[in-house]
Amino acid sequence: MNKKILVEVSARHVHLTQIDFEKLYGKGKTLIPISKLSQPGEFASQQTITLLNGKNKIENVRILGPFRKNSQVEISLTDAYKLKLNPLPSIRVSGDLNNTTKITTKGPKGNVKIPVIIAQRHLHCNEKQAKELKLKNNQKISIRILGQREITFHNVIVRVSNNYDLSVHLDTDEGNSVGIKGKAFGNIIK
Ligand SMILES: [Zn+2]
Repeated sequence: MNKKILVEVSARHVHLTQIDFEKLYGKGKTLIPISKLSQPGEFASQQTITLLNGKNKIENVRILGPFRKNSQVEISLTDAYKLKLNPLPSIRVSGDLNNTTKITTKGPKGNVKIPVIIAQRHLHCNEKQAKELKLKNNQKISIRILGQREITFHNVIVRVSNNYDLSVHLDTDEGNSVGIKGKAFGNIIK
């Protein structure tokens, strides 16, 4: 099997509930989509928030839509050091928010404390793609990315849902380590 798989680097971002969004941006306000993401229905919104930890901050953190059932900030380990978070957020599968560190997010109308994680690298695919690639939900695979800084990433968790389309998501630290910006292609190694 030598299929080239799309590999995308996810910059720091935040998913919000409508309630948290309205606390940050004001009652009745809603997300304004500016670009589509690779996963069906997902979009980058025009709005951003600031992450705050005491005097340390990161501005212009993109809000991704649509609204979710739980709010969640996703940052890299480098961001966590920059924000001087203590304890450091743990590496989690997106949505696994039990006992996570929280961080203050600031919008034009208010602040909200939201769980923050470092996303576990993962592969999204729908059921048909999973069948073709002989992958199972929650399986761990390896992805080899060629180039001058060739790296094979292990512990890439497979996430199967018919809401997904085929792509691997790395964070900026992982993307930078292999020298990719934006998009690249990799091979699955089981
Ligand atoms: Zn993803």
